[in-house]
Amino acid sequence: MKRIHNAAELQALLASSQAASACSCSLGTCAGWESLSEYRWPADAQQLATLRDPELYEPTFEELHPQGTRYDAQDAPVAVSFFPYNRCDLWKCSTCQRHLLRYTEFGGYNVDPRVRAIDPCLTILD
Ligand SMILES: [Zn+2]
Repeated sequence: MKRIHNAAELQALLASSQAASACSCSLGTCAGWESLSEYRWPADAQQLATLRDPELYEPTFEELHPQGTRYDAQDAPVAVSFFPYNRCDLWKCSTCQRHLLRYTEFGGYNVDPRVRAIDPCLTILD
């Protein structure tokens, strides 16, 4: 699996494929982080890369919000080495062509898959 190390690599990968079109699949907008049950995950989504460092046992839980945004804000930056991006995989939906970041939030006995669609105009930081 291809690994993305920083903002420049993520930007290059996003730029190398087709621009996002209007959504026509089961995902909804997912402009900020949303819980997304397994059944809503598009069956034709393809994993492109991972942002996880395989050598880090526990990536940081620190978040990066230089503009004072919050975790689930639609305009929160994508900060590659910060939570939760540092544990995400990058996917692409074959139906709407959007790029999607996905990770699993573990809380108690719950496993909670979270998804955020990556809009090309979002700020991407290291
Ligand atoms: Zn889609």
